[in-house]
Amino acid sequence: MLNILCCVKQVPDVNLVKIDPETGSLIRQGVPSILNPLDANALEAAVMTKERYGGEVTCITMGPDMAEEALRECLAAGADKAVILSDRAFANADTLATSYVITSAANQLGQFDLIFCGKESLDGATGQMASQLAERFDASLLSGVLTVCKVDENGKTVIVERELETGVEKTQATLPALITVEKTNYHPRIPNLKSWKASRTAEIVRYNSRTIPDLDPAQIGDPGSPTKVPRTYPPEVGETGMILQEGSPEKDVDKLLSLLEGVI
Ligand SMILES: Cc1cc2nc3c(=O)[nH]c(=O)nc-3n(C[C@H](O)[C@H](O)[C@H](O)COP(=O)(O)OP(=O)(O)OC[C@H]3O[C@@H](n4cnc5c(N)ncnc54)[C@H](O)[C@@H]3O)c2cc1C
Repeated sequence: MLNILCCVKQVPDVNLVKIDPETGSLIRQGVPSILNPLDANALEAAVMTKERYGGEVTCITMGPDMAEEALRECLAAGADKAVILSDRAFANADTLATSYVITSAANQLGQFDLIFCGKESLDGATGQMASQLAERFDASLLSGVLTVCKVDENGKTVIVERELETGVEKTQATLPALITVEKTNYHPRIPNLKSWKASRTAEIVRYNSRTIPDLDPAQIGDPGSPTKVPRTYPPEVGETGMILQEGSPEKDVDKLLSLLEGVI
């Protein structure tokens, strides 16, 4: 029976987020929060692995209280347990502090054979979490996984196909292993009414900075985060281009030359 962890993040729907031109900060007010889309693919891979080999999938998130909603979505889509790590002391956490809090809490829940992550988050999008989590869990890191081909619980190995720039690589790693999932083969399932209803009232395990044993205050939240973001701003838009449509290639060239004469 596999013990599987799936790390998920609730993110603002970035298509609707705007940046305050005065302060340079994100205007989150009124912007709906969603489960990070690539984490839905990771969850599907985790649930399909559980369905094939047996076991349990625990979803974990560090975020504000409202991130519970993302966890309920995961429970509806096949996760067995959900854990939220929420505390004001975790605010302003960068990836170093976030990966520290997640592994510290996860170690209280047991030993995990497989840890699934999305490829990156929609908002932070550093793509750093997986490697940091793998290091902290002392797990093999398998990034860009297209397919989980075989898990051998007794031999403590996993075989996956990974997407490379030049093709596909089939590779084997020892458990525990952390897998970041490509969305190609793992499309999130649509929950049925029964599981959706059950997810609304399911228990969600909560941890804060006081209930995770031996948490070092110097490694969490702002004090534990060497990354500082002084300003966020949209890229400056330069002059828009011009498409020449004078009626024929010859006329386009004449027009182009006359325009260039003006600038050279
Ligand atoms: C300077 C700075 C300040 C920040 N301040 C805050 C803050 O005040 N409040 C706040 O909520 N966030 C804050 N964040 C973001 C938060 O800490 C991120 O969750 C964390 O840094 C992950 O970075 P990312 O989004 O780039 O993850 P990526 O590395 O792009 O994510 C890869 C995968 O890791 C997993 N993952 C990522 N984040 C989480 C998470 N939180 N819980 C579980 N799994 C996760 C998911 O599977 C995801 O697909 C801050 C980030 C930075 C850099």
